[in-house]
Amino acid sequence: MTKRKRHPQPLRPELRESLPRVNLDALIGSVRYEVDEAFAHLWIKDPAVCQGCPAKPCLDFCPAGVYRLDCQGHVMVGYQACLECGSCRVGCPFHNIGWALPRGGYGVAYKLG
Ligand code: SF4
Ligand code: SF4
Repeated sequence: MTKRKRHPQPLRPELRESLPRVNLDALIGSVRYEVDEAFAHLWIKDPAVCQGCPAKPCLDFCPAGVYRLDCQGHVMVGYQACLECGSCRVGCPFHNIGWALPRGGYGVAYKLG
C-alpha cells in the first residue's frame, strides 16, 4: 500500500480570521453526558497485557483522560468521560481495549456539532 505524504499548509489569513476562537478545555467542559450506569462501553480485555505494556500510550492519547493508573499501577477505565472519538480503537498497541458505542440515549451530547 502506498503511504500518502502529508503536506500541511498554513491557513490563509482570511480563513484564520473567520474561525471562532476556541479553548479546547472549555469545549470539553461544555459537553453534556448521559451516563449509563448499567453498561460500560469501554473495557480492558486482559489486565495482564497492560502490565506488560511499558509505554501505556492510552494514558496520553485519550483526550478525555479516561485511562488512568490506580495506586498499584493498574489501568483504570473511567468510561463515563468518554468523548467517543474512537482513538483507543487504534491507539492501543496490543488491541487490548474493548470498545462499543454507548447504548441508545446514552453517551455524549455535543453542543457544537
Ligand atoms: S495501551 Fe493498551 S495494553 Fe497498553 S496499558 Fe493501555 S490499554 Fe493496556
Ligand atoms: S473513544 Fe476517545 S475519548 Fe473515548 S476512551 Fe477512547 S480515546 Fe478516550
